[in-house]
Amino acid sequence: MSPPAIRSSCARRRRPSGAAATPAALLRRARAAARRAYCPYSGYAVGAALLARDGRVFGGCNVENASYGLTICAERNALAAAVAAGCRAFAALAVAGGRGRAPALPCGACLQALAEFCPPDFPIHTAPLRGRGGHTFALRELLPRRFQLPENPA
Ligand SMILES: [Zn+2]
Repeated sequence: MSPPAIRSSCARRRRPSGAAATPAALLRRARAAARRAYCPYSGYAVGAALLARDGRVFGGCNVENASYGLTICAERNALAAAVAAGCRAFAALAVAGGRGRAPALPCGACLQALAEFCPPDFPIHTAPLRGRGGHTFALRELLPRRFQLPENPA
């Protein structure tokens, strides 16, 4: 099941181009977003940069809460900002965060949220907050079997 179509510049399937479309540029945007993270409980800052097909980039950071379950991840914040701006077609996501050299990977909830709008080959670039390292995954590698409603519910 695909999301309903909307009328917006983003709904057009045009490939983004230019400097903002490179993995390195997206990761820089993700690291910048991580600097705004609100994570007093975990100390685990994460930033995300979601590249729309129309070339816009939507940033997000994790926002924690004293009631831990209310915490929202950087990836879903970026996705929500994009959808609120009328954008539902995406080209790539960059996620930077964590501690040390290990890159932050999207959690299962964020992968499921991305799968609502993105195809299985959707690229997800990951990196630590500082230094080198990281990897690019296809969405299907991190979420091989996403939840889907049955086509013909009983
Ligand atoms: Zn998440």
